[in-house]
Amino acid sequence: MMRGMIATRFHRKAGFGSRLLAVGMLSAWILGLPWSGQGQQRIRTELTFPNLPDYLTLKCDFHMHTVFSDGNVWPTVRADEAWRDGLDVLAITDHIEYVPHRDDIAVKHGRAYELAKPMAEGLDLILIQGAEITRGEPPGHLNAIFLRDVPALQTEKVEDAVQAAVSQGAFVFWNHPGWKQPQQKSVWYDQQDHFYRNGWLQGIEVVNGDDYDPIAHQWCLDKQLTMMGDSDVHDPIWMNYDASRGQHRPVTLVFARERTVEGVREALFGRRTAVYWQDRLIGEAAYLRPLFEASLEYKSRRVNLAGRTRAVLQIHNRAPIDFVLEADGRASEATATASVTLAAGKTSMIEVRPAAGNRSGVREVRFPYRARNLWIAPNEGLPVELAVSIDFGVPKKAP
Ligand SMILES: [Zn+2]
Ligand SMILES: [Zn+2]
Repeated sequence: MMRGMIATRFHRKAGFGSRLLAVGMLSAWILGLPWSGQGQQRIRTELTFPNLPDYLTLKCDFHMHTVFSDGNVWPTVRADEAWRDGLDVLAITDHIEYVPHRDDIAVKHGRAYELAKPMAEGLDLILIQGAEITRGEPPGHLNAIFLRDVPALQTEKVEDAVQAAVSQGAFVFWNHPGWKQPQQKSVWYDQQDHFYRNGWLQGIEVVNGDDYDPIAHQWCLDKQLTMMGDSDVHDPIWMNYDASRGQHRPVTLVFARERTVEGVREALFGRRTAVYWQDRLIGEAAYLRPLFEASLEYKSRRVNLAGRTRAVLQIHNRAPIDFVLEADGRASEATATASVTLAAGKTSMIEVRPAAGNRSGVREVRFPYRARNLWIAPNEGLPVELAVSIDFGVPKKAP
């Protein structure tokens, strides 16, 4: 989005300060000097989402601004922030058409990418060249990423800008579709339909900053588009998210075959994403379920109910997000705690009791739940199972 005058004026001083800081950091980087400021320790908070059996899980933010459009930070700061936030991938997507700092900073499309690149490389981050095509509504704002020639998108007609991006092999997605719409409700206009039918529009932001868009979510499902969740940050990221209170920017999880620019691109065109927003994950069951399962570490898969009325199952959740589970049906052999929150990074205990009736031997039991904060559609939690083998003991001798 474009920030208003008040925010811009208010943050001008901070923007200048961060530029100085950034220039200092960049020169230290080039000279290979150890960074020894008096600021905060440089600490990265890892986002501990596991890889899937077939894919690497890459943590990405594909929408952010710098002073080269209407942002208030120098490009290198974006790389440093991404590193601190545990990301693998970032795309700088300055507006093409909206450059309010033009009296102070020369309009140079693509320059932010060049400036941030050495720092991103030094931090082992994947930096993707992008731009935001910024027009009235419709079509609204579109991000094009994996660009090679950003100035080529400076065209009079939006159609030509999108075509210029597509001809470079770019991945084009629709940003914050509800913005400036009546009641913030997203509308699918002819213009979007035209882009979509040409195969130019590949994804939509289901999450932009603090906003989740259920209409966009449903469109992605119905129209087979890629779900994106991005910060669209303009100020220093800490101004929007207080890490000390557990807040984090929205992250697009990309399930890639390799940790490269081409790997990210292939996964985005293949629609293999999920969105990590606040305390929720949004995506298709095909990715959320293996992500959920790979996050769990059972202390033991075996529960002993031989001659007992209860036993406990211990499950460690290595993901950085709680899983809020609610029983959804029941198993015939045993019952388990109906409401369970598998806390992020912790081990939780689930009580298991035998169901009525005599049982013996070892049986595989699957307890059905809904993960309430893993959304496979608007307001629809992911069905999951906790699978254990229960030892019911030796059969009782007939009298
Ligand atoms: Zn925008
Ligand atoms: Zn903006």
